[in-house]
Formats: sequence, C-alpha cells, structure tokens
Amino acid sequence: MNIKAEICAIAKMMEEKGYVDYFEGNISILDRENNKLYITPTQTRKLTLTEDEVAVLDFETEEQLEGSKKASSEYRLHKAALLARPDCNAVVHCHCKYLTAYAVQGKELVIKSNNLMQLVKGVIPCIPFGKAGTTHIADGLAEKLQEKDACLLGNHGMVAVAKDLSRAAALQESLEKAAEIDWLARANGGQPIDIPDLFD
Ligand SMILES: [Zn+2]
Repeated sequence: MNIKAEICAIAKMMEEKGYVDYFEGNISILDRENNKLYITPTQTRKLTLTEDEVAVLDFETEEQLEGSKKASSEYRLHKAALLARPDCNAVVHCHCKYLTAYAVQGKELVIKSNNLMQLVKGVIPCIPFGKAGTTHIADGLAEKLQEKDACLLGNHGMVAVAKDLSRAAALQESLEKAAEIDWLARANGGQPIDIPDLFD
C-alpha cells in the first residue's frame, strides 16, 4: 500500500471508531529516505479522506509540496515527535475521549491491569498545555518520548509513535481502552488494584 493510501485507510478507521472527526486529530507518516512528511489536512472529514487531499511537507523546511488541502497546523507536534524518535516513522495524535479526559486534568494515566503492559509499562505521562499552531505544542514531549511510545498533552489530547502507522494506531486504540476501563472502575466507586510486580 502506498503512503497516501495507508493514511486514508487508518484515518477512516479512526473516525469510524470515534477517535477523530472533521476538526480534530491528525496522523502522519515520515518517509525518512525522501525527507517527506505525509499528514492529514486541516478541517477535513477523515472518513472520506482522499489520497489527493493528503498533505506532503518537506520535513526540514516545512514547505507543503503536495495535497489539495493545507496540512494540519499540528504538524509541529508530529515533527517534534519524529525528531525525538528516529526509530519511529509514524505518529497518531487525537483527542479521544478517555485519554483526553485525563489530559484536561493534567493527569498521567497509570495502567495497572491490562495486557497493554507488553506495549507500554505503567505510567503514560502528561506534559503541560502548549498552544496549538505554535512550537510550544510540543514542549517537553521529546523528553517523555525517550521513555514511552505515548504521551498525554495537557488540556489537549494524546500522541503515540511507532515504527509504522498501523502500530501507532493500535497503541492509541489500546491506551484509549485502558483509560476507559480505569475511568469506569473509578466511577464504580473503586480504584484499580495494584499489581506491583508487573511494574518491575
Ligand atoms: Zn490536537
């Protein structure tokens, strides 16, 4: 599958699952060989995104090279994540409900009992709010991504990185489920049970 088709397929899946919508959320793939960043455009229905609409930026100069619509202004977040993690080539950023519910409180997410332990151990950190459309959107992100493949963005949403887009989307999906379970457990009057040995 070519890069644009892959972006369209994952964007569609993510809107079908309610993780992104017309205004919010964006995903990207970096072609490191050609130094090109493929990213979803601003204010576009992800469900019906076409290859022609996928924005392609020069990763260094940030000049838009292709795409009938303007790249999301949050490309700065994607660029910061991809610079921080040379082992990763894809980024998922969204405002999915449960992870964002933690993020708007500036709270980290502690995953206590989930087979996600294989993917991300223990704590998903949360960085302070940084204004969208500015480089401050990614302040502190690079440091957190040295230790984890995902991070919450204070009063904003979440970001996940992986070697490919399918894996980044799978990570976001699993983390959202873990956040939902954690939230429901607390709403049910309790707290998730500690399993200390799993955090070693
Ligand atoms: Zn956002």
